[in-house]
Amino acid sequence: MPEELTVGQLNVAWQAVRDIHAQHLQVHGVNLPREDSFKWVWLAVLYHYREEFVHKDAVSAHVRQVFPDAAADQQVRHLKRDGWNIESDRKGGHRLDPYNPSPAFRNDQARRRGRLAARSFEDLKKVYGSKCATCGAVEGRPDTRYGDEAVKLQQGHRDPEKPADDKDNIVPQCQFCNRSYRGDFTFDDKGRVHAIASVEPVRRASVKVKAAVRAYLDKEFAARKK
Ligand SMILES: [Zn+2]
Repeated sequence: MPEELTVGQLNVAWQAVRDIHAQHLQVHGVNLPREDSFKWVWLAVLYHYREEFVHKDAVSAHVRQVFPDAAADQQVRHLKRDGWNIESDRKGGHRLDPYNPSPAFRNDQARRRGRLAARSFEDLKKVYGSKCATCGAVEGRPDTRYGDEAVKLQQGHRDPEKPADDKDNIVPQCQFCNRSYRGDFTFDDKGRVHAIASVEPVRRASVKVKAAVRAYLDKEFAARKK
């Protein structure tokens, strides 16, 4: 565990993080934490030790210097959601690349911008590289999973309960995914399954899963009646 930084050292590191953010990261939409949030201390510690992995317990110890009531287990990895480029090892260590946004965050931003700018289904397909958002099959070619029929991208609906003509509700899906998932699932804007949209997947589930679903629903509906 690295030796503890003084509050003065933390402030110096935080100032450097803010400067780098303004120069390199703001333009990508990376979120700079407010100073009443623990996250500024996370970033200051990771920046100070930016050449090495810092264990989250060491980060937590520093947070408690500034915020004595803070929890002992700070979830440093949540910085990734804000766009920070944090590499994690398997032992709870984290390392910050202060100059670049997280690649996943950049992809997400680019896809969102592309979705907003798309004026036609042809434009939307380009945002997804002319591939099925769900399975990655490439338009116009046969795919080994499906036989000789060429892949054709169709307008898949992210949520079958939402209007079919709502632009935000559309993802390109191949005819095979569109056919087999139709109406049973909702999807995120990456084309990944998010939730069930009918009882059909429950009907096909094992008895064990059905029992778990039933227990969950009994509890949920009992709580709603109160
Ligand atoms: Zn597909």
